Amino acid sequence: MASDIEKVCSSCQKPAALKCGRCKFAWYCSAVCQRAHWKEHKSTCKEDSTERTIYRAGDLLQQIFYVYCEKNFDRRITKLEDLGDRLIIHYAPGISAPFVPFPKHLVSDDEQKAMMLSNFKCNDAVAYFYDLLVDLLQGIDGLEIEEWNGTLQLPKRRTQAGADGSSIQSEASIRKMREQPWHWITVLKITKSSKSIVLDISGAQFGIFKPCWDLEQYRTKYADAMNDAQVPGGTVKQNAKADALIQGWNGYVQRKGWAAVDAVQNAVQDWKLKTGLSLRALLHRPERDFIKGKAELLDSIGMSLDQFVANVDFKKDMAAAIRYEKKHPGTSQRISDERFLSIAQHAHIELQFKKMGFSGAKHMLI
Ligand SMILES: [Zn+2]
Ligand SMILES: [Zn+2]
Repeated sequence: MASDIEKVCSSCQKPAALKCGRCKFAWYCSAVCQRAHWKEHKSTCKEDSTERTIYRAGDLLQQIFYVYCEKNFDRRITKLEDLGDRLIIHYAPGISAPFVPFPKHLVSDDEQKAMMLSNFKCNDAVAYFYDLLVDLLQGIDGLEIEEWNGTLQLPKRRTQAGADGSSIQSEASIRKMREQPWHWITVLKITKSSKSIVLDISGAQFGIFKPCWDLEQYRTKYADAMNDAQVPGGTVKQNAKADALIQGWNGYVQRKGWAAVDAVQNAVQDWKLKTGLSLRALLHRPERDFIKGKAELLDSIGMSLDQFVANVDFKKDMAAAIRYEKKHPGTSQRISDERFLSIAQHAHIELQFKKMGFSGAKHMLI
């Protein structure tokens, strides 16, 4: 039975007799179908099974991240201007509601959509999906997860907030972002092969569309000084969880964000019960089954988030946050910034310790 399922063409679903020579996971009925499927398959086709698992995990996590961002959309957009090197997003002034429908009608392709969904979301991508990442990568021996922050080279294509709309970000930070983008990524170190893989699921805002990269390749192509802070996996999550406890805008945004993460996690649990599979098992399925399982999982996450948005009431929390910001302008941002700086400084100290031959403390200052 299992072998029948495996031998289905990944492209057309007819019975298949040819196996992808590289990953030995994808089956095809013909060379024509294999060639037709390559564009989709190449991002997860890896000879090394650990690497393949990680590339598939990255692919899945990025899709989940996009569903999450689309269902949680909270800024009205009046216009999109695609200048090639920049995608200018014109935000409507002010925030009118905790959630707004994603403006599908403004988007002309998947790249533009990914760029809009990931705009200003690199912290969220690292923080909100850390637990899912750990769940996906369970059982890989000697895998270390780190979170890196730093600056990117000037991207060839990127998002930019239009000048007419106000942004949650301060004008100063937008200006800084225009000059040199500042970004969070996750780095997965495989000790067995001493290979490091970059996981960057929110890179589309800077024209980085693939979720997984060889570290050296990523550095050469995109990174400028990608090591202002190197902190253990889960640090950005702890930071965002701490922000959810503060008053004002930053606290409200985090409370809403984490409540939606719970809706994602509930959907994942339901999918596990329904299918009897773990996320790790899904990553080890033959190509066709992986694609099918991924689609089912994304559907159930989408439905769970739809229900969440329909039933949850964040209007009061939002109104309280706006009142707080009027009374104490900039306070919540300052608290968040100070917390972040303490992490960055601590990471520098830790790096210095490592250079001097100490192992360095693993505890964060939160
Ligand atoms: Zn076929
Ligand atoms: Zn392959």
